[in-house]
Amino acid sequence: MTSENKCSDCNDPNCGAMGKRPGEKEAEFLERQALSSRMCQIKHKVIVLSGKGGVGKSTVAVNLSVALAMAGKRVGLLDIDIHGPSVPKLLHIEDTQASSNGSALSPVRVEYPTGMLNVMSIGFLLRKRDDAVIWRGPRKHGLIKQFLTNVDWGELDYLVVDSPPGTGDEPLSIVQLIENADGAVIVTTPQELAVQDVRRCVVFCRQLDLPVLGVIENMSGFTCPKCGEHTDIFGAGGGRAMAHEMGIPYMGNIPVDADVVTSGDSGKPMVEAHPYSETAKAFGRIVRTLLDPELKAEENKPLIMMERQTMKIAIPVTQGNLSLHFGHCEQFALFEVDSESKTIRDRQDLTPPNHEPGALPRWLGEQGANVIITGGMGTRAQSLFTQNNITVIIGAPSEEPEQIVNAYLDGRLKTGTNICDH
Ligand code: ADP
Repeated sequence: MTSENKCSDCNDPNCGAMGKRPGEKEAEFLERQALSSRMCQIKHKVIVLSGKGGVGKSTVAVNLSVALAMAGKRVGLLDIDIHGPSVPKLLHIEDTQASSNGSALSPVRVEYPTGMLNVMSIGFLLRKRDDAVIWRGPRKHGLIKQFLTNVDWGELDYLVVDSPPGTGDEPLSIVQLIENADGAVIVTTPQELAVQDVRRCVVFCRQLDLPVLGVIENMSGFTCPKCGEHTDIFGAGGGRAMAHEMGIPYMGNIPVDADVVTSGDSGKPMVEAHPYSETAKAFGRIVRTLLDPELKAEENKPLIMMERQTMKIAIPVTQGNLSLHFGHCEQFALFEVDSESKTIRDRQDLTPPNHEPGALPRWLGEQGANVIITGGMGTRAQSLFTQNNITVIIGAPSEEPEQIVNAYLDGRLKTGTNICDH
């Protein structure tokens, strides 16, 4: 065993690296030892499965991994979908090639302010993005073993494995190779057919003694962003009912959300691109159940990612520019800002509720605003904003909201007198 494997302090008699098994050949033992010593450095291993394709398994695997990294964990994400690796694209690292540091491959590292993500995918080894890989079972098994053993994962809190749909060669290999995995997270959509496929996944896990950590119902319900009406497009509750019936934990549901598609296409997962959205909060709730398995989906609060790095700046807007009287504005431009890199992540234009005393500060507080920048504001309104933990900047010019936010972030915002100081 090499010193880089850091197994010297481990006295676990059940560890695969400890001794040769009866009848085991020397080469097999050395391979098993190398795999065990690599896996020993990873505290938790979670395998993401689905009964069929297209239910959002890769989307869930990527968002859970990034959410864990944003919660300060050291995370590895292994994409073993040999025929259709989508993780590199979802993280916008599809043009990256794997590099080698001597004996091992280096995973592609994605940094977050609080944690980091090490990613490995067959996609990094293909010469051209559209190359197809036609491999049969034994070669796939060998490749997956290499992904576990010969990748320099380092010390990790979590390894999340995105496995191809179904219960074929790849899921079988990964479960056999990671002997002490925490368990499987099974992704489904609410339709009866998808739910039926999950049953096969659960039986597969039981046959292989792999605990089922829980079921996630993805694409579960849709709330119209314009009118707020809720529709259960693909039905709802099928995953929960099935989990209950089969005696496995229900981890929560993720709504249908067009931003999931656009954020996936742009390579910035939902939890990073829109950390305050209902969908990111739903991922956050599920991550909490992973971090603390005692919690049930219904009981825990959402983990709002990037809490420390993100702030929201509200600007009252009339005819496209900052409205000098905040109470008379047509809309509020709400900017989500990365306060470390001082960049705008997202902008929403929201119509405020009817103007009655105290309504706007309360409503902006509910929208997560931390700062309001306006031309003028009376002292009573100022104190209501302060009570809602919203910082008030007064005397800003009537300019385009994005310019104002950038000037504020760069410390260049020039403020004059409070025009409502009457
Ligand atoms: P799988 O890995 O199960 O094949 P993907 O993660 O590739 O599925 O997702 C399939 C498609 O569905 C992608 O276009 C993805 O953006 C979209 N998708 C996944 N989850 C959602 C969701 N909650 N709302 C809207 N679209 C989603």
